[in-house]
Amino acid sequence: MHDPSRAPHQVRDRAVRIQHFRPSVFSEMRDLAVRTGAVDMGQGAPAMAAPAALTAAVAAAVEKGLNQYSPAAGLPELRAAVASYRRRTTGVRYRPDTEVVVTAGATEALSAALLALCDPGDEVLAFDPCYDAYSACAELAGARLVTVPLAARDGGFVLDEAALRSGFGPRTRVLLFNSPHNPTGKVFTDEELAVVAALCREHGVIVVADEVYEHLAYDGRPHRTIAALPGMRERTLVVSGAGKTFNVTGWRIGWACGPAPLVDALLSVKQFVTFAAGTPFQAAVAGALWDVESWAVELREELSARRDLLTAGLQAAGLPAFPGEGGYFVLADVRGWGYRDDVEFCRDLPARAGVVAIPCSAFHHRANAPRWLARFAFCKSTEAVAEAVARLGAAGGAGAGR
Ligand SMILES: *Cc1c(COP(=O)(O)O)cnc(C)c1O
Repeated sequence: MHDPSRAPHQVRDRAVRIQHFRPSVFSEMRDLAVRTGAVDMGQGAPAMAAPAALTAAVAAAVEKGLNQYSPAAGLPELRAAVASYRRRTTGVRYRPDTEVVVTAGATEALSAALLALCDPGDEVLAFDPCYDAYSACAELAGARLVTVPLAARDGGFVLDEAALRSGFGPRTRVLLFNSPHNPTGKVFTDEELAVVAALCREHGVIVVADEVYEHLAYDGRPHRTIAALPGMRERTLVVSGAGKTFNVTGWRIGWACGPAPLVDALLSVKQFVTFAAGTPFQAAVAGALWDVESWAVELREELSARRDLLTAGLQAAGLPAFPGEGGYFVLADVRGWGYRDDVEFCRDLPARAGVVAIPCSAFHHRANAPRWLARFAFCKSTEAVAEAVARLGAAGGAGAGR
């Protein structure tokens, strides 16, 4: 007999491993921005233009016929350019042929690294809050994300050494380390880097260093790679890419640098995920990287001016802002408007102020994490930032409380 409640060929539509991968609050907020016409200060896609020479070089590469597979490790000229800028900007040397691999954006590098390094049951350590892909990448690898809090203290976020120490255990395989940091805007200090590095050495842990904002540390603050600390090069995979460096997030060009065994492990996964990607984009990015330092000076100036505008605007609107030391984001304290819950604040914000932000709880993993922070992106046009600031000011002035 046919039992409709128990269809014989019922499709199990997803693996247990990805059971809770669902559309996130990011898509909800993006839809809200589109539906209400609010200024979207949520998404971290840059509105700034790419270097004109870079976009012209892509067209030239396509015309020249660079339209087929590149080697799985990436075009040799891009690997050489990556090794060169890393040496110039950080002093750390990598061999282009064995210690650099090109990926489909930094995202693929992060994901392939964890798939390559973790076994089921292993633990991946990260700070809380952290970039939303980290937990998903860990789970894809069958690993568990363990987080330790970054403490909001003295108007900034600080490393809590005792908390970090307690996060390490016998199954800790990888520390995902992101500086400049999304979503807090923190740039880790030299002292903090030394503490993190010492604990990783002590516990035999590999560092996957997410440095996509490596050129975006502001106010003369240097960007330091953890790979440059004593004993760290041999245990660190540095991940970065062209997206945040040249405002070309849609090109999907990223890379990882590290000791040959770690790069080789990553490559052995990557060859069966994308194999290769974006050959003409790789060729163009290779050219632009030879002069990335002077481009980055301009980009930092532009972005830090927008950061200043946004930070002052948030303060004036009654939403105390944390310092955006680097990257694309500033966190603001929604309690300034009487809110206790960041999701509620962000759901109300389009109607109240015509602005969209992202609740920081989307980046939190701990039950006792603060739920009163909203993330505002300033990688937008100056006009958009100014408009958002004007709207927030009007809404804040119109009587904070609720
Ligand atoms: C944007 C971002 C990424 C992803 O970079 P893609 O090159 O676009 O894949 C990774 N990590 C952090 C912290 C980011 O903000």
